[in-house]
Amino acid sequence: MALNRTAIVQGLQQLVGAANVVTDEQELKRSSIDRLRLYEDVHGLYTRPIPAAVVMAHGTQHVTAVLQFANRNRINVVARTGRTATEGGLETAVEDSIVLDGSSMNRILKIDTYNMQATVECGVCLQVLEDECRKLGVTTGHSPQSKPIAQMGGLVATRSIGQFSTLYGGIEDMVVGLEAVFADGTVTRIKNVPRRAVGPDIRHVIIGNEGALCYITEVTVKLFPWLPQNNAFVGWTLKDMRRGFEALRRVMVGGYRPSVARLYDPPDGAFHFGSFAAKDDCVLLFMAEGPAGIVKATVEGIGEIVAQFPECRPVDPRHLAEWFADLNWGADKIANERREILATRAMGRTTEVSADWSTICDIYENALSRLRVEVPDITMAGGHSSHAYINGTNMYFVYYYDVKCPPEQEVDRYRTGINRVICEETLKLGGSVVHHHGMGKARTPWIREEYGSSYYILERLKRAFDPNDVMNKGCVIPQ
Ligand SMILES: Cc1cc2nc3c(=O)[nH]c(=O)nc-3n(C[C@H](O)[C@H](O)[C@H](O)COP(=O)(O)OP(=O)(O)OC[C@H]3O[C@@H](n4cnc5c(N)ncnc54)[C@H](O)[C@@H]3O)c2cc1C
Repeated sequence: MALNRTAIVQGLQQLVGAANVVTDEQELKRSSIDRLRLYEDVHGLYTRPIPAAVVMAHGTQHVTAVLQFANRNRINVVARTGRTATEGGLETAVEDSIVLDGSSMNRILKIDTYNMQATVECGVCLQVLEDECRKLGVTTGHSPQSKPIAQMGGLVATRSIGQFSTLYGGIEDMVVGLEAVFADGTVTRIKNVPRRAVGPDIRHVIIGNEGALCYITEVTVKLFPWLPQNNAFVGWTLKDMRRGFEALRRVMVGGYRPSVARLYDPPDGAFHFGSFAAKDDCVLLFMAEGPAGIVKATVEGIGEIVAQFPECRPVDPRHLAEWFADLNWGADKIANERREILATRAMGRTTEVSADWSTICDIYENALSRLRVEVPDITMAGGHSSHAYINGTNMYFVYYYDVKCPPEQEVDRYRTGINRVICEETLKLGGSVVHHHGMGKARTPWIREEYGSSYYILERLKRAFDPNDVMNKGCVIPQ
């Protein structure tokens, strides 16, 4: 028989101690959602099923005990660390779920500058780790905009990517080894070695699982030399996105590895570069970092390639350095955003996709032309490419709309429709519907089409590791 809420709370208190089981009503309501329902949240409205409790885990033993209890009693568990999720990954899909919070597992276990790797518990905030690393002259190379708040468990669980990805890669390129706990309480450790060829790379069952297969308790990531004195910015304005994509492509296929490689369209660029860009300007920019000789060669090589586009006009690099210094989102920006939403009813959101060089500009143009006519109350639609690869790039759509409906209808009326347009246009041309924010629950309608015949593998993984469907119900794999 299913346990009721009181029995769940009592069971959890016995396992981890009453002090680690949160049952405050307001906190439970806030724990039923993430930033997908930000508009409801700022209005104090909560339409998702409310969890029974939030458990503050203080170690792998707590995680194991809670997962075994949940698995035995068929209770849904939502893993949580930094709470910056944007796609509904933290939503509790059914009543009386358990939110298993790892933010108290926040010890940096080792920063090893000889073997260039750091081992941390899942609740270590990336900014804290990065600050400690820099004191020793090294960097994680990971810099998502959510760096001041996001924590290592969530960053690995969502396959996050940072602003310097063109040089250092996404989190999947940085993770060396892990510890994770599965639904039945099995604790698994993947050891830290530079590479191995001993069958499939099982790290990738864990990286990106979004709490739908297992709970990540510990992570080891690579480190790199930190040489900020050599950082260099270069940038240009131009009038045409298609030409901008082509310049970006030539830099990437030319073999260069800037840390940052971005192309902004005019509406999005106006938000960031109003101090120097005209209203119809696209902005193409790069940052190079690392040893001085590599930086010099990178900047010169990019300059030679962009010179093949005579319409490009150079930008004073100081503007770019100033802009970049204020790009991350800490608690202050998040608080300001909430105040602004309440005052203006204007919502700004994003959807990020990826595709090869042949199709990315068509996806960008097709999606934007549909958005402008199909979505009501839209006040701005644009975007930028922010993560470039040798074989393609991402497109980060940015859009604003004025909410003209009750708060509880906002997601359905606006966000879902916008996602539909962007995902449909992306899939039509063979791209991927999520570049880095994770599937959450918001983008699962497109998962079968995204995976095609390989959906078989994903479904089997879920059935094998979570046969009772207690790991983040509805996340990644639709209910
Ligand atoms: C302002 C802002 C900027 C952002 N910028 C970027 C960016 O530049 N790049 C980027 O990639 N993302 C970005 N994001 C998205 C988000 O920050 C990342 O996805 C981040 O990785 C989430 O980490 P978190 O610790 O906050 O995880 P949470 O929000 O707590 O959880 C995210 C997901 O991971 C699961 N999860 C959390 N912890 C664990 C665990 N220990 N084990 C298993 N599953 C777990 C959760 O169930 C949920 O599905 C941004 C978000 C915001 C709000």
